[in-house]
Amino acid sequence: PDVTLHDFLFRDRTSTRVALVDGVGGRSLTYAELAEAVERLAFLLVSRGIGRGDVVGILAPNDPYYAVVFHGILRAGATATTINTLYTDADVAFQLRDAGVKLLFSARPVDFPDTIPFSDLPELLMPGAAPEVPVSPDDVAVLPYSSGTTGRAKGVMLTHRNLVANIVQCGPLLKVESDSRILAVLPFFHIYGMQVLMNLGLHMGATVVTLPKFDLAEFLRVIQDHRTDRVYIAPPVAVALAKHPLVDQYDLSAVDTVFSGAAPLDVELAEAVARRLDCHVRQGYGMTEMSPVSHAIPDGRDDIPVGTVGFIAPNMECRFVDPASGADVGVGERGELWCRGPNVMKGYLNDPEATAVTLDSEGWLHTGDVAVIDSAGAVTIVDRVKELIKYKGYQVPPAELEALLLTHPAVVDAAVVGVQVADVGEVPKAFVVRADNSLTEADVIAFVAEHVAPYKKVRQVEFISAIPKSASGKILRKDLRGRDVV
Ligand code: ATP
Ligand code: MG
Repeated sequence: PDVTLHDFLFRDRTSTRVALVDGVGGRSLTYAELAEAVERLAFLLVSRGIGRGDVVGILAPNDPYYAVVFHGILRAGATATTINTLYTDADVAFQLRDAGVKLLFSARPVDFPDTIPFSDLPELLMPGAAPEVPVSPDDVAVLPYSSGTTGRAKGVMLTHRNLVANIVQCGPLLKVESDSRILAVLPFFHIYGMQVLMNLGLHMGATVVTLPKFDLAEFLRVIQDHRTDRVYIAPPVAVALAKHPLVDQYDLSAVDTVFSGAAPLDVELAEAVARRLDCHVRQGYGMTEMSPVSHAIPDGRDDIPVGTVGFIAPNMECRFVDPASGADVGVGERGELWCRGPNVMKGYLNDPEATAVTLDSEGWLHTGDVAVIDSAGAVTIVDRVKELIKYKGYQVPPAELEALLLTHPAVVDAAVVGVQVADVGEVPKAFVVRADNSLTEADVIAFVAEHVAPYKKVRQVEFISAIPKSASGKILRKDLRGRDVV
């Protein structure tokens, strides 16, 4: 589609339907008000000298005005870089510098010269239309940062064309309609919240109900009071929905579909959620570099196992490649997933080497994830190439062991990493959060051994109080590994 994201979403937007509503405070914007506020925000930016090629930062939790700032920046021809609200001041400072931010909208005090406090909105917005700014669909529209699960977060250059392409691609996969009510607790600063919740929702004319942070009681209350039918989650939320007693105290009958992405979803947990809420649970897969969705279980396909991430998005191609030889592997065999399509990034910011390694000259994005496709075309994500534990020449996927550990009634949460043991090499070690002290290391080792091939056995166990996770719900194995060195 040869169009900017602004023109794609906001051309002729005069509807008085609610576009966004704050699930906590109740402040809302209709489509007409949103389009007007976006225009005013762009007017403000232009009057402050912001234009094409400038980068403007957003550091704020989900709120209807997040969308105003985000789309106002794009309307002014500038690039939005979205900042993780869980970042420390040092992380924020890094991104501001790395992305070359000129002006920042921030909901918390930050040491940055040109900052507009989020709380000044909407009073700051004066009537006025921004002048037409020349924007090309190939300009970088956003610079989100990857989650930093495997190392330092990377700035990802996504163009207007990339973003519009993925919104169009997601349309037929995810049943979002103009009467849909989307629960947006996943953060808009992360590509999943930004594109699948906010932008796809706005494109379809749905109502997006925002929540600034995850709190189970508040989350359940908003589902009940706002009667949201589309609930997007990351896997840790599925644990609460499946197991927490609070869930029974709310009327969740409006929920039609719970959609999970960003990290591996445990099948038993997913099925428990589907039964308890009497809803569909579906999974999708994506990454920041793909704007983000490449695979999803399409709406209506209850025949596709929830343990898979479903089918490839329209207008994309994928390959499964043996990372060692570079040859394609067959159906049912594990290989690194490579994807190509109009939603694939332009490259990493300030990092041509990383770009060259990830995005090859033929446009294939090497996802770094191991996956397998079945004869019907449904894809299962096995694990990240880098996370596979190499035990005596075998490859052990930690995600599989984590899913198994979670099925043990006394295991609250778990993560598995490879640790070096003298004379043996790498072995799988489980970090476990237990329900009570009666569970022993020997119990954990025996439980895993009972269920897996001998080479996959967990060889070491450590009990900890919480598994470190990123804002998008991913296990930070690098932190566990770092902890092990100490
Ligand atoms: P970084 O690249 O900075 O190390 P990250 O890869 O976690 O962090 P994101 O772009 O947020 O940053 O996440 C993309 C990754 O999330 C994918 O490469 C994949 O490993 C994982 N992922 C996404 N969806 C799923 C899913 N449904 N099942 C398993 N893994 C998933
Ligand atoms: Mg990544």
